[in-house]
Amino acid sequence: MSGMLNTSQELAHQQDPDERFNMSTEILTTLINNVPGLIYAAEPKAPWLPAVISDGATGLTGYQAADFTSGRLTWTDIVFPDDLDNLRQAKARAHENRRLFSVEYRIMTRSGKIRWVLDRGRFTYDQSGEAVALEGFVSDLTEQKRAEECTKWAIYHDTLTQLPNRALFQKTLNRALDRCDPSSNIGLLFLDMDHLKHVNDTLGHDAGDIVLQTTAHRLRSVADSTSTVARIGGDEFAIILPHVTSNEELAALAEDVLDRLAEPFSFKGHSLDCCASIGASLVPSGTSGASELLKHAGIALDVARANGRSRAVVFNPTMLADVEHRATMLSNARRAITERRIAPFYQPKIVLESGRLAGFEALLRWRNPEGQMETPETIQAAFADARLAMGMGRQVLAAVIEDMRGWLEAGLEFGHVAVNASSAEFQSGRFAEQLLNSLRQAGVPTSCLELEVTETVFLGTGAEGVTQALRTLSSEGVRIALDDFGTGYASLLHLKQHPIDVLKIDQSFIRNLPSSPEDAAILSAVLDLGRNLGLTTVAEGIETAAQAEYLRAAGCDQGQGFFFRRPTPRDAVVDVIAAWQPHLAHRADDHRGHHDRPCH
Ligand code: C2E
Ligand code: MG
Ligand code: MG
Repeated sequence: MSGMLNTSQELAHQQDPDERFNMSTEILTTLINNVPGLIYAAEPKAPWLPAVISDGATGLTGYQAADFTSGRLTWTDIVFPDDLDNLRQAKARAHENRRLFSVEYRIMTRSGKIRWVLDRGRFTYDQSGEAVALEGFVSDLTEQKRAEECTKWAIYHDTLTQLPNRALFQKTLNRALDRCDPSSNIGLLFLDMDHLKHVNDTLGHDAGDIVLQTTAHRLRSVADSTSTVARIGGDEFAIILPHVTSNEELAALAEDVLDRLAEPFSFKGHSLDCCASIGASLVPSGTSGASELLKHAGIALDVARANGRSRAVVFNPTMLADVEHRATMLSNARRAITERRIAPFYQPKIVLESGRLAGFEALLRWRNPEGQMETPETIQAAFADARLAMGMGRQVLAAVIEDMRGWLEAGLEFGHVAVNASSAEFQSGRFAEQLLNSLRQAGVPTSCLELEVTETVFLGTGAEGVTQALRTLSSEGVRIALDDFGTGYASLLHLKQHPIDVLKIDQSFIRNLPSSPEDAAILSAVLDLGRNLGLTTVAEGIETAAQAEYLRAAGCDQGQGFFFRRPTPRDAVVDVIAAWQPHLAHRADDHRGHHDRPCH
């Protein structure tokens, strides 16, 4: 180990200088050779033939130090070819700038393994400024690199399925979009598992994990090598398809995926599948936004789920229009609630036999910012949103109760008022109690109120709560009407299981009377049913005298429709009472214009 010894001044000793010199050389040599890694002093020019190289060479490269010092092997021979340029440049830069260099690269060991190393050092110069040597230290970086790789892998992958995670999916998508050429579109499949939660809840998370892993495996098996399959959420997967030409091709691919996922497999004696709903979209021509592609696939996925799951839907622009329309409806409803621009209009219900007033149906109206009254159709979507539905329902009900209290105080015989309730309103679980409380506080008898529900409230989640609420209300004297009867499920079971008092026959069966024999037959069957079950029958949407007369003759109890009166603001109710209860007209006169609500 020559040429490296003049730095050992510290090792002063009692012996004579020669002995001291030998001693310190020995210590230093041992020290240098024991350092894990490789210390070298080499020629300043590539291939950097070493004059000195420590024994650490063997541990690091598998070759002996002598293999290098003898010139049998040069350092550049064992540098991984792809990394050689990098190493050369790092050293050239250090030489030029007279600075230290520090460079990471791979070497190939004698046994053929690839090892990462860190090479740090500097050039030394003579007095004329000429580089005379290259001195440095090479250490093993392999373990550190492996750990870094693992960490990097974990940052970008899902450990359960080994698939790329959302972060890598996003990166890959952006990269694919950057490369997108106009002739080949980027397709995206957005998958949402149909019943992972159910599997987790009933069979445990082990089973859920198996479903997810099987899904991942199946998705990889259907996707080709250019596609990226990623798990982007708990039960959400995505596939980036970089070469799709048309929506038709995309739809066919999505169907293949669905078929593969639907194949049953068994787990601990249970038959499971990986069924999912899929939303698919292609990069719209002319744009290349990842967020747009994702948004469109998400919209298509919502449609797939709404259409009954386990299906694939490819995005089309009308879906976006629908979503925007829906968003407008929700925002209109939200504003109308906070600005208290919601109030009921009242439409009379007439006893067909006597022509007397039976009561009213309260129908929601809201005043738009331009001051016009709008019907529920313009905020339809809000009835499916629990918070908004409750907000609207409360305002309507509060107004109805206040109006009934006023009419009762004025001695006006309005019969009853029917209010509509959507299934979302029952979700709080306190609907019945709150309603009864409000009536009690206002001193309005429960017999004045009727509650109209459609059969959809008996379906889906929360249906048991609805049954309970209706029973509570019914036992307290609130009458329950089944609205739009005949359009939904018209299940006789619903009539049997729930405390129904009134059947409201949907206007679609009335519209073509008396000329339609089919509608006449349906009407007759429903009237029979009502009679036999002791229910009051009400025909909706009566628009002509002929319809009213036909229904009366057929034995329908009550009628409601434009023929009698369109829904009217509360102030007009007194006129309605006067018109249909002439003997009570004087009381109506007294009450006319009694009090005002800002909405009217
Ligand atoms: P619905 O409960 O079946 O109400 C009857 C609908 O028929 C009302 O529409 C009414 O204006 C309309 N109508 C009445 N007579 C005639 C007629 O002769 N011909 C025709 N073509 N239509 C007639 P509206 O007020 O637009 O309400 C639509 C639906 O919105 C209601 O249907 C009900 O399901 C819902 N709705 C109304 N108010 C409320 C409410 O306060 N809460 C809830 N949850 N839903 C409501
Ligand atoms: Mg109704
Ligand atoms: Mg109806």
